[in-house]
Amino acid sequence: MSDSAKRGLLIVVSGPAGSGKGTVLGSLLEDSEYRYSISATTRAPRPGEVDGVNYHYLTRQEFEARIKAGAMLEYTEYCGNYYGTPKKEAEAVLAGGCNLLLEIEVEGARNVKRAYPEAVLIMLLPPSFAVQEARLRGRGTETEEKIRERLARTREEVPCIGDYDYVIYNRDGRADEAVADIRAIVRAETCAIARNKNAAEDYFR
Ligand code: 5GP
Repeated sequence: MSDSAKRGLLIVVSGPAGSGKGTVLGSLLEDSEYRYSISATTRAPRPGEVDGVNYHYLTRQEFEARIKAGAMLEYTEYCGNYYGTPKKEAEAVLAGGCNLLLEIEVEGARNVKRAYPEAVLIMLLPPSFAVQEARLRGRGTETEEKIRERLARTREEVPCIGDYDYVIYNRDGRADEAVADIRAIVRAETCAIARNKNAAEDYFR
């Protein structure tokens, strides 16, 4: 097997609120071939969130120092806070042969693709905007204002889907199918000739 085939895949998953990213990624992460990139952020921890588990919580000064030092694989400013992917951790996971999952928004996804054209960008969607709205209201965890804000953001983000490589629909009660779709994409991408450029040479070695 060629060395390039042993390097892990950089996988970006974006999706609007209510797309079920947490459930789908949680399921993939039960598999030791997948690792989750813990982002850095300047936003305050929400109740129940733990530093070093959900995010690395930094001050603006600390975050800006890391940007300056080139320590971020990508970063963006979202709703007044910085969010970014620590480069060193990501590189270590990929070099170790594990697939790295980045759960980030569209601007970050575009930045990843610019810096790492080999990254695979996946957009996870509810079956429709109407279903997404019903899910958000059904949760009953957010105020009407927050729901409207999230739906407005969806109208901005989903039209950016042309920058992505794949779209996956997370249908009600069928998250396992979305998980299977991601596994299938990863499997096919791993076999792509573009990722196995030395296949012939290695074969005759
Ligand atoms: P939240 O504050 O709800 O945890 O996250 C807000 C948004 O920031 C979500 O869309 C999430 O996917 C995105 N996000 C989280 N971490 C990163 C990151 O490292 N980089 C970028 N570009 N976006 C991120």
